[in-house]
Amino acid sequence: MQKRLSHALSAVIQWIDADYAPAGAETVRNEPDRVDWVRCIPFIILHLGCLGVIWTGASPFAVWTAVILYFLRMATVTGVYHRYFSHKTYSTSRPMQFFLALCGGTTVQRGPLWWAYHHRHHHQHSDEEEDAHSPHVHGFWWSHIGWITSRRNFPTDYTKVRDLDRYPELVFLNRFDAIVPLLFALSIFGLGAFLQAHAPGLHTSGWQMLVWGFFISTTALFHGTSCINSMAHLMGRRRYKTEDDSRNSFILAIITLGEGWHNNHHRYQSATRNGFFWWEIDITYYLLKGLSWTGLIWGLKSVPASVLAEGAHSDHHDSVAAASRAQHIHPEYSSLKRIVPAAAAIAVATVNAANATLPQRADGHKSHRDVTELSQTPQGEIDP
Ligand SMILES: [Zn+2]
Ligand SMILES: [Zn+2]
Repeated sequence: MQKRLSHALSAVIQWIDADYAPAGAETVRNEPDRVDWVRCIPFIILHLGCLGVIWTGASPFAVWTAVILYFLRMATVTGVYHRYFSHKTYSTSRPMQFFLALCGGTTVQRGPLWWAYHHRHHHQHSDEEEDAHSPHVHGFWWSHIGWITSRRNFPTDYTKVRDLDRYPELVFLNRFDAIVPLLFALSIFGLGAFLQAHAPGLHTSGWQMLVWGFFISTTALFHGTSCINSMAHLMGRRRYKTEDDSRNSFILAIITLGEGWHNNHHRYQSATRNGFFWWEIDITYYLLKGLSWTGLIWGLKSVPASVLAEGAHSDHHDSVAAASRAQHIHPEYSSLKRIVPAAAAIAVATVNAANATLPQRADGHKSHRDVTELSQTPQGEIDP
């Protein structure tokens, strides 16, 4: 009983100080998975807050605010927490790095170092027993939402983010990870109250804006992001034969502004873009490219030609195989019967021609700094 009470008390303190761990963070991380209900109360409140719409109702202004804040903050999750803090796919200055971390806090997905640590861990153990959110190992719901409620997944493992924990301002934001979300929620409430007084024609209020702009938008953002942990290892095509079961999905790429090209990303994590070909829409990359023209970020990393060639080869190979299968199913009726062998011959010739001029090695290892290397290197990409 006393042990339970002390656990509950620790969990309440951790709402404010995420690094508080009287038994040691390492001990907690080595425990088996167990839902920590007290620690999850803020997360439960986030979901229950959506029900506030019953009392506040809706207005076009509040709904549009929720939609815009969803996409702006999705771009932050992918462009900042994922492509900068987790993978360092571009460089920036120290003040801009701090500003990016502040923006990351508004997504209410905990601190930048916690996010990066878990994500790097996912890449190092994708779809293995160790992977905290593999739908193949732990099931769909655990990979989507369960894993973040587990006590062992709350502490940050700072040894996995040595390139980031040398910046005290980042460690501060990571440790007190409720500050930015609370200030963000307050600002939205304040904006609504201001508009109620000064722009009554918008028919909104502080509470209505809080429900739509914060609770509904943030809950949708959480589930949109979580689709990458759950769905992106289940739904879509596999261009690259990676050791995990990551997939490429157009639908997920739209919902998550480019993260849906997850199989591409698992094949080559260091590139700023996840959509490797022009038809793979990757809004986050376009935004980062635009930002690089201002000089605030630089050194965006590209996909090596060898990885692109490997992808093109694999796609050709799949389409030829699919055409052969189609021919096999209806051999006597298929009007494509005479066309398919010719098309296959052209495709094979194209692939061979492409390979003649492109590097034969599958991976450009020299230019590929993957997460394992990043985790151990106490060097950043920024000019201090
Ligand atoms: Zn993955
Ligand atoms: Zn990643």
